[in-house]
Amino acid sequence: MKPMRFYSACLYCGAELKGRADKKFCDPQCKSAHQYQQAKQNPERFYNKVDNQLKLNRRLLKNFNKAGKATIRKEQLLQAGFDPNFFTHYWKNNKGDVYLFVYEYGFLKKTENNTDKYILVQWQDYMN
Ligand SMILES: [Zn+2]
Repeated sequence: MKPMRFYSACLYCGAELKGRADKKFCDPQCKSAHQYQQAKQNPERFYNKVDNQLKLNRRLLKNFNKAGKATIRKEQLLQAGFDPNFFTHYWKNNKGDVYLFVYEYGFLKKTENNTDKYILVQWQDYMN
């Protein structure tokens, strides 16, 4: 009996794919071009994803920073769902430390005793 062969096409350029059956793209270029195309075709989904993460980040920073200033282990914040890649703006102090802000709540990564921490602050008028 002849072994059956299944051919599938690259989701981006349509070229015939050889090799692993679960392959979807010819190469990483086709894969990233496809993802970019999807994101462009689906701006709402991308917007919602960013929006949701910003809202979650803000809520977490607010909850962990009730006093207006706090220090928290990075791990603890990440475990709660915080993603430091999503922020709205930044502020640099005169020492050159760059605080990233999610709306009115800011955070600065700091390593103390080999532990990654975040210094949490709140937006102040003088930061304008
Ligand atoms: Zn392709």
